[in-house]
Amino acid sequence: MRIAMIGTGYVGLVSGICFSDFGHDVVCVDKDPAKIEQLNAGHVPIFEPGLEALMTKNVAAGRLSFTLDLASAMKGADAVFIAVGTPTRRGDGHADLRYVYAAAEEVAHLIEDYTVVVTKSTVPVGTNRQVKQIIRKANKAALFDVASNPEFLREGAAIDDFMRPDRVVVGVQNERAADVMAEIYRPLFLRDFPIVTTDLESAEMIKYAANAFLATKITFINEIAALCEKVGADVKEVSKGMGLDGRIGNRFLHAGPGYGGSCFPKDTKALARIGQEHAVPMQITETVIKVNEEIKRGMIEKLLTLCDGSFNGKTIAVLGVTFKPNTDDMRDAPSLTIVPALVGAGAKVIVTDPQGNHEGETLLPGVVWAEDAYKAVQKADLCVLLTEWNEFRALDLNRIARRMNTPRFADLRNVYSEKDLKRAGFESYAFVGR
Ligand code: NAD
Repeated sequence: MRIAMIGTGYVGLVSGICFSDFGHDVVCVDKDPAKIEQLNAGHVPIFEPGLEALMTKNVAAGRLSFTLDLASAMKGADAVFIAVGTPTRRGDGHADLRYVYAAAEEVAHLIEDYTVVVTKSTVPVGTNRQVKQIIRKANKAALFDVASNPEFLREGAAIDDFMRPDRVVVGVQNERAADVMAEIYRPLFLRDFPIVTTDLESAEMIKYAANAFLATKITFINEIAALCEKVGADVKEVSKGMGLDGRIGNRFLHAGPGYGGSCFPKDTKALARIGQEHAVPMQITETVIKVNEEIKRGMIEKLLTLCDGSFNGKTIAVLGVTFKPNTDDMRDAPSLTIVPALVGAGAKVIVTDPQGNHEGETLLPGVVWAEDAYKAVQKADLCVLLTEWNEFRALDLNRIARRMNTPRFADLRNVYSEKDLKRAGFESYAFVGR
């Protein structure tokens, strides 16, 4: 199969590289000349474990290339994937579809033979039909079908998620498009990974329903954690006891500082908006959005208590600013709520993150960057573990405590035990839900 992939962000790049690894001929396109230049020089512009090596292998095999020119990418393509961003639209929470529609318009003029136009971006119900109309309007003679193929990969584990998915979802309107999609995903089909083939609307809905459900699960345990703190229960024990129930499952039951990232915040908002537009309010999702904001703010209160009621003049070390480990993505990360609150209240904030400084330097003004955790905590009054990178999971706590002005620790990911912290000499500490 020949595939054109529009967008070389987290999803487009991973999908394009993995499709080429399946044996397909893939040309990835982006509008950003700097990204294409970097890719052509053999470097991936994002941090995703294993991605650069997989790219190098497939470029060398002649199956993968990168260009700014969509026309050349679409020459002879069986399918063109739209994997551009769908951020939250300012003001109303709706998914901003302008990049998807602009890509559809460009595609329309370049279709020669039969092509399946596949939307991989997360888009509200009805978008694929809209894409179809845009193409039809711009090119009456075009021979094409549309397909919805939402992506479920997680940043930080993207290659494995793409290569070994829980399922692949494909929404189509006819068998011809279904056959092309089946051929593209044949290597997975052969290895018995389930492929859910459905209509366009259901495919679009599956993605939002799945993300809203996961955001709900996280928020549920975060709310339970807040109650655990008041009643003297330990949320880690509670999660364990709950998660062993097969109907509940133990994943996404780790209490923390609130969900963030490039998907959950924007997709929950978009689902709430879709519900409002159809007069079926998504009350659970709307509450989840609200509670998640409160959870994030609750973390600031927790830190304030550790700082004796005032951040002013305190030195606070923050370990980890990306929304989760193994990614450089900072979109809607809890750090973007917590760190500015500390800076704004007069604290000197020293941050360290194995990959976050590239974006963080613009997104977190007023902080000082340190090379590692030990440098960050030098003379600090409080150390906050915000993202559980491996580097921060096995800290020499004695060394951390010794370097600090007042050894206090806020473990917002519940990595350490009370015993660990006490033994290391921390005079006060806090967890989430314990
Ligand atoms: P991203 O912002 O990282 O990348 C989008 C890329 O598309 C950018 O490089 C941009 O320059 C490029 N682009 C935009 N318009 C273009 C055009 N007309 N032609 C060529 N290139 C164009 O976005 P992302 O994180 O990869 O997300 C893409 C979509 O996938 C979103 O809808 C998102 O919700 C969904 N998704 C993301 C994840 C994730 O973990 N990031 C997971 C599942 C689904």
